[in-house]
Amino acid sequence: MPAYSQSLILVLLLSVALFACASDVLAGGEFLVSIPELNTFNNLQPTNCTGISNFVNAPTYISTTLIERLTNLRQNIHKNAELPGEEAETSERIKNFVTEFLPDDSVVNVGGHGMLFLFKLGRERPGRKVVLFRADMDGLPIQESDLSVSKLNNYKSVHPNIFHGCGHDGHSAVVAGMASVVQSIRQKYQNDTDALNGDIILLFQPAEETGAGATAMKNDPKFTAFDNGIINRVDAAFALHNLPGHDFGKVLLKRGTFAAASKGVRIELRGETSHAAQPEKGRSPAGALSKIISDLEDLAFKGRNRLLPQYRDFILLTVVHAHLGGSDVAYGTTPGEARVMVTVRTYLDEDMDTLVQEVRNIVSKACESLLIESEMSFSDEFYATRNEPENTSTDKSLIELVRTSAEENNLQSIEMHEPFRWSEDFGNFQFKGTTYFAIGSGVDHPSLHNDDYDYPDELTLPALSMFARLAEKLVVNKV
Ligand SMILES: [Zn+2]
Repeated sequence: MPAYSQSLILVLLLSVALFACASDVLAGGEFLVSIPELNTFNNLQPTNCTGISNFVNAPTYISTTLIERLTNLRQNIHKNAELPGEEAETSERIKNFVTEFLPDDSVVNVGGHGMLFLFKLGRERPGRKVVLFRADMDGLPIQESDLSVSKLNNYKSVHPNIFHGCGHDGHSAVVAGMASVVQSIRQKYQNDTDALNGDIILLFQPAEETGAGATAMKNDPKFTAFDNGIINRVDAAFALHNLPGHDFGKVLLKRGTFAAASKGVRIELRGETSHAAQPEKGRSPAGALSKIISDLEDLAFKGRNRLLPQYRDFILLTVVHAHLGGSDVAYGTTPGEARVMVTVRTYLDEDMDTLVQEVRNIVSKACESLLIESEMSFSDEFYATRNEPENTSTDKSLIELVRTSAEENNLQSIEMHEPFRWSEDFGNFQFKGTTYFAIGSGVDHPSLHNDDYDYPDELTLPALSMFARLAEKLVVNKV
């Protein structure tokens, strides 16, 4: 009896980052500091940009030369893109740039290629603030398109199947630029030494895309030992992400959850093979597989459409892969193994345990009567990225500082009502004063993770201006 080989692999769906639409609400309010002399950058005309102004009211100390140097740094990082966890050259480039501005302390190779740089401003006094700015450094395992802007400008990634498709090269350049900003703030207040009272930490993290980098840094003893545990005294931690599909330079704010918690769940099913002519002598996981997929999809549908009573907020499941049978699959053999992979998301961390338990129950229920063994494992785990609570609305709140910084920089800002469904590793640091915001890369800019995406260098000026004003507001007593 002949056996006919044929692959029975079912690849169902690939998860795609979904961007929630936010209604545009123009923010208004008072300035916390006076607007410095206008520093125009009218020559910076971003391509693919619509809407927002073509100049930024940047702090005067952010020079054209600095922006040119950061553009250079960004394009070098882009050209030599590295995968998550392999950011050796990238971190070296950033370190060389930052150390030029003489940090008071630094530590490298934290949780892989992570780095921390500390700048102390003014003498230690009560009310001192510790302010942290964080960047991610990793590229993606995607082949960059020949149609990309980077190709035209000669900085296309030299590494096949690796490129900066999420703009982490740009985020790194912006936070590296903060080393120069700190030096400028020192110079600005050099005749008024009592004005400065704060510590600024620049944090560069590896492996954001896999959700492993922040946790790896946190678990490295060098992280908590840095400068006698200063990392545990962080008052405000800021990070940003460039965001295509939104007006260039527009700042997107969100109180409460900014980006969802998520987890990759791998479900392995094991039965027993038999001759396909006598399936009753084996234990095929086919029935359990289809029941699990059907129940997961059912829960996903309900979760997308209404708030379920067992959860406090929105939940989402996406079945991303399914496979039935071993590698040598034949028409003559009843399959003995199967696999389902699902990405689960929640807006609140506390809902994640409930959702995982619900998935576990679905799997057990489907397997029990069919005598199929199951095993669940997890990867790509992200906490929710949480800004301060929704009910915080004082002028001193960090969200307010971001909003007024946007105003002073002549950038529009909007407050979003819904969190983003994608996840962000910044939440895994669990700093107490986390404030994460997005800045538009242009309505028509290629989407993140598309092979023709390229971080728009024109965004470095508004992004750096945001961080610079936030730093001044928190470490200078008189603003
Ligand atoms: Zn990213």
